[in-house]
Amino acid sequence: MTFSIENILRSNIKMLAPYSCARDEYKGEDATFLDANENPYDTGYNRYPDPLQKAVKKRLSSIKGVSSDCILLGNGSDEIIDIIIRSVCEPAKDNIVSFVPGYAMYDVSAHINDVQVRQISLTNVFQPDWDALKKVADPRTKVIFICSPNNPVGTAVPLEKIEKICATSPNLVVVDEAYVDFSKEKSAVSLLEKYPNLIVLQTLSKAWGMAGLRLGICFASREIISVFNKVKPPYNISIETQRLALEILEKQDLFCQRRDEVIAQREALIPLLEETGLFTHVYPSDANFILVRTPQCRQLYNFLVENEVVVRLRDIPPLITGGIRITVGTPEQNELLLSLLETYKKQA
Ligand code: PMP
Repeated sequence: MTFSIENILRSNIKMLAPYSCARDEYKGEDATFLDANENPYDTGYNRYPDPLQKAVKKRLSSIKGVSSDCILLGNGSDEIIDIIIRSVCEPAKDNIVSFVPGYAMYDVSAHINDVQVRQISLTNVFQPDWDALKKVADPRTKVIFICSPNNPVGTAVPLEKIEKICATSPNLVVVDEAYVDFSKEKSAVSLLEKYPNLIVLQTLSKAWGMAGLRLGICFASREIISVFNKVKPPYNISIETQRLALEILEKQDLFCQRRDEVIAQREALIPLLEETGLFTHVYPSDANFILVRTPQCRQLYNFLVENEVVVRLRDIPPLITGGIRITVGTPEQNELLLSLLETYKKQA
C-alpha cells in the first residue's frame, strides 16, 4: 500500500499558503535586523526565536538517530496532537480512533476540532483490540492513536503489533511514546523509514524532567513534517525553552541515572504496594507510574489528599474499576506514601 500524506490532508491545508516569518527570508546571523518589528534594545529576549529550532533538533537528531528534517517540536506533545488532527481531519466529517483506557487528550483535541472519536476498549490484558479496530475504522478514519506505554495502565504495545497495524492501515498511525524511556519495549522510531504513515510522539516532560518547559517531539517522514511546519504557529518554542532544553539535553549521564533510579523505585514499590493488602490489583508497569485498584479507591484517595499526598483517581469501568494511578516518586516520597497506606489500613 502506498501512503502519501497529500492524499489524506484536509483540502484547506493542502492549499495553505503558510505564514512566512520575517527571518525566513534572510538566513545569516550578523546583520542589522530591521525586519521583524522587534525592539532593538537587547534584553536577551528582544529577538524572535528560531522558528525551526535547528540547534535543539540537531541535538535530538544525534540522541535519537533521526534526521533533523524528520522532527517537529511542539509546545508539549499536546500541541502536536492538535496539529495532527487539525491537518488531516475534516470537521464534522472525519473521525479518529482511540483506545480506552488511554490518554484523554486525543479525544479532547478531536472534540475541539469537531472530529468524531471512535473509542475501542483495550483487551483485558491492556492491549489494543486489533479485531475491533478493523470493525470500527472506515474510509473517514484519518488517525489511529496508540499510547505505548499506555497511560494510565502502564502497558507497552509490542513493536511487531505496531508494525502490523502500520502495514495494514491506510490512515495515519500515531504512537505516543511519552513514557518510552522507562520501558523494556523498543521505540517505534526504528520503523519510521519503513512506514510513511507512522508518526511517533515523544516528550521531554517525563524522563528528561522538563514538563515545565513544554517541549514535545514528533518524528515522521519529511513529507509529513513539512506539512506540520506550515500548520504550527511560527514561533511556538520560546528562546528560553530552546536554550534550557539544549542545556539539559547535554546532561545525558544525569538523565540516565535518574531514569534508572525511577525504574528501580518502580520495581521496588510494586511488591510493597502488594504487601499492604489494600489493593485487588497492582499492575506491572513500563512507565513511571503504577496502576492499582481497590473498591475503596475514593476513600483512599481522599485520605491521601487530606494528608497532602496527591495521586490520580483513574476509576474507569469496566477494565480499571477502582483504579488509582500512582506516579513513582523519590525514595523519600515513596516511603511517605507507604507509611500513609499503613496508617490508612489501621484506621479502616
Ligand atoms: N502523551 C501521554 C501519554 C501523556 O501521558 C502526556 C502527559 N501526561 C502527554 C502525551 C503530554 O505530554 P506533554 O507534556 O509533552 O504535552
